[in-house]
Amino acid sequence: MRKNIVAGNWKMNKNLQEGIQLAKELNEALKGKSLNCDVIVGTPFIHLASVAEAVDTNKIGVAAQNCADKESGAYTGEVSSEMVASTGAKYVILGHSERRAYYHETPEILKEKVLLALKNDLTPIFCIGEVLEERESEKHFEVVKSQIEASLFELSPEDFSKIVLAYEPVWAIGTGKTASPEQAQEMHAFIRKTLVEKYGKEIADNTSILYGGSANAGNAKELFSNPDVDGGLIGGASLSVDKFMPIIEAF
Ligand code: PEP
Repeated sequence: MRKNIVAGNWKMNKNLQEGIQLAKELNEALKGKSLNCDVIVGTPFIHLASVAEAVDTNKIGVAAQNCADKESGAYTGEVSSEMVASTGAKYVILGHSERRAYYHETPEILKEKVLLALKNDLTPIFCIGEVLEERESEKHFEVVKSQIEASLFELSPEDFSKIVLAYEPVWAIGTGKTASPEQAQEMHAFIRKTLVEKYGKEIADNTSILYGGSANAGNAKELFSNPDVDGGLIGGASLSVDKFMPIIEAF
């Protein structure tokens, strides 16, 4: 069966010392707890190795927030999937709306990133989601379907079954405006139906689909209680243990 997952996305926050401190505090808070979900923290590149060292990686998975679309070579400033994997990280967030919008990551670029992540045994947490105008003009289903098709639907069933999806309506990210539990469930059920049509029921049923967008301690329980919402990708509320723990414990 698919896993419940609560994944933090620290974005470009916390210097190295602060990040290690946060990771250690989370590790401490999780000690001795039996959880109903997997916990992941998505850190900046430079934190990965230290955070993987500082936590019990059986309890806390470590994720990069990006990786290069090239294998290796003369790409100044880039970080490859192989490098990410060599830090002890097991996941990589790909296709986040901030990367699509600010760094012009196209579906084709993302397709390459996904392939390289899989080649290096990283689990992609692949983000999809519509902007406000697309929802208001009722194009949100079409947009999300085409984001999935364009970057993921050439994967073999075996490779696709290694993907985690995160539905993140762009209008809800960092805005304090969460999708309602009904809106989240409606889209997650649509995504799962899209996966059934392409890869069949078994793979679709086993794919974790996370919700992201201003999820917090106050709304996580209601969001996660939906049958097709398998957890959350959490930005702002993952930056302190006080705010992140209640979301983990909402499962
Ligand atoms: C995110 O960036 O993935 C996110 C969901 O951010 P926030 O929780 O802050 O809206």
